[in-house]
Amino acid sequence: MEIKRTLLPSEKLKPLYDDALKLKFGVNFTDYMFTMSYNQEQGWHSAEIKPYQPLMLDPAASVFHYGQEVFEGQKAYKSKRDEILLFRPQENAKRFNASSRRLSMPEIPVEDYLYYVDELVKLEERWIPTQKGASLYIRPTGIATEPALGVKASKEYLFFVITCPVGPYYSTGFDPVSLCVCKTYSRAGSGGTGDAKAGGNYGASHIATRDAIAKGYNQVLWLDACERRYVEEVGAMNIFFIIDHQLVTPPLTGTILPGITRKSLLELAPDLEIEPVERLVSIDELVEGIESGRVTEIFGVGTAAIISPVGKINYNEKEYIINNNQTGPWAQKLFDTLTGIQTGEIEDKHGWVHVVK
Ligand SMILES: *Cc1c(COP(=O)(O)O)cnc(C)c1O
Repeated sequence: MEIKRTLLPSEKLKPLYDDALKLKFGVNFTDYMFTMSYNQEQGWHSAEIKPYQPLMLDPAASVFHYGQEVFEGQKAYKSKRDEILLFRPQENAKRFNASSRRLSMPEIPVEDYLYYVDELVKLEERWIPTQKGASLYIRPTGIATEPALGVKASKEYLFFVITCPVGPYYSTGFDPVSLCVCKTYSRAGSGGTGDAKAGGNYGASHIATRDAIAKGYNQVLWLDACERRYVEEVGAMNIFFIIDHQLVTPPLTGTILPGITRKSLLELAPDLEIEPVERLVSIDELVEGIESGRVTEIFGVGTAAIISPVGKINYNEKEYIINNNQTGPWAQKLFDTLTGIQTGEIEDKHGWVHVVK
């Protein structure tokens, strides 16, 4: 689909950051944004790249009242050969559509989605950091815009893409996080929206994070909503364990977000000679395993941090320390391998890296 472009004279472009390694996550936006509208008569139309600017929305727009909103999170890297690399962007496009279907929102053809993201990233090339661990974060978003308060799916939508350069999640090496098991709230219930990247999931989870922080922990360890027994996710990341020398993660049962980092680590495991296992892990198995030494590592995984080692877990007011509160060898190896592939430094045997041309 054709993109209308409104470009700025070079003197109107924003000044670049001084040091990409010091950039905070998600606060420094680039010069341009992509937008595209949807209505029932025209379908998706008016694809545009224009200067980054506020949106004009009717206060009755359904996103404000009934929460039809979905998003994606991706990263662009600069390789040593000065290429722009995206990591498995087709997976983001497909997941954007899966989230949209769940929220009764219109899908975007995968090829179109990929083209729009590529075109915006190409235009913003100067913003892509070259420093190790830094990247250009990409946030494609869909919202319902029909100005109507009737409780029903909107007939009009807006898709937009914004980008921001981000520093490494860990500026001074890994810093293991501490978790508090949440027994008051659930993140996702069976048949709900836990497997969609929908804004509402996050709005409802901050209260639990606040409680964890008040108790002196960094993040929430979420259990299943039904039995409060099986471990599901950590904060807004998928969770992995090293148990009996296997790489274990909970299966995608509908309440877990199907992470692309998660999927990639499972596919990478055989290359690194560790067996990947998808199975339920109860909180009791976990704390017993930490005490007995069967569980040697725990880490969260997702696009923002890639890998986030877990050093401590509070469960029933008792604290369990994992691997001496240090980053374990598997967290380090998986991090090095995956980020090496993403930045073009390690051979991409799986065909995951997309070179933006
Ligand atoms: C985005 C997200 C993840 C990680 O997905 P990636 O594709 O690996 O970035 C995990 N859990 C939740 C709740 C998420 O929103």
